[in-house]
Amino acid sequence: MKLLEVTRDQVKGKVGVIAIGSVEQHGPHLPMGTDSLMAEWLASQLESSYPEEVILFPTLTYGCSFEHGNQPFIGVSYINMINFLTDLAESTKRAGLLSLIIVNGHGGNESLLDVVRRQVNFANDKFKVYLFSMVGRDKGLFNVIDMHAGSVETSRMFFLKPSLVRMEKLKEIRDFSVKEGVFQTITTDKANPYGVINVGGDIQVDPKKGEESMRNAYADLESLFLRVKQSLAINEG
Ligand SMILES: [Zn+2]
Repeated sequence: MKLLEVTRDQVKGKVGVIAIGSVEQHGPHLPMGTDSLMAEWLASQLESSYPEEVILFPTLTYGCSFEHGNQPFIGVSYINMINFLTDLAESTKRAGLLSLIIVNGHGGNESLLDVVRRQVNFANDKFKVYLFSMVGRDKGLFNVIDMHAGSVETSRMFFLKPSLVRMEKLKEIRDFSVKEGVFQTITTDKANPYGVINVGGDIQVDPKKGEESMRNAYADLESLFLRVKQSLAINEG
């Protein structure tokens, strides 16, 4: 079921699922909403497989993207996001949902999501926040390491929505070198002139690998959901 479509009596006793991503530059060839679209696909798959048990929240498309420096992004600060998500989780609990699974598509959200999880979970006995992340997956899928807008993300997007991958714009990227310290001490625009962090070579686009990556991620999200269900059943008993 979808949160915006159910009535107040339908929310109780369900598990909430919310996708969270970013609105930020993904090189010259991928959409600004790449991370949000991927997380949203996973969360909607879960809702369509378990419509009676899962409530799909509207996607939180904005995230924390300061690591992009002078390249375009639309986002909020870490502290605002922590407060926003903690409030959201607390009201989810008050509304009678059993737990909340956050499906994250964006690396810049990782550390704040860990804080939110700790803040909510250590203050509540039964209601828990669970995190499922797309970050750091599929490192061995290509012989390059895609840290941002590279082979993995481009191939995933090609599987999800090929029309959103501007293949002709790939030619604009003439330098794939990456300076040390990206995401730690320097922003993506300082690490690579095109803001693309694909360590080891140029971008390979393989829709089959993109599909494999998304389907494997869904299988892992589904098994997280089944574990959440199991722990809720134990809590009940
Ligand atoms: Zn991304």
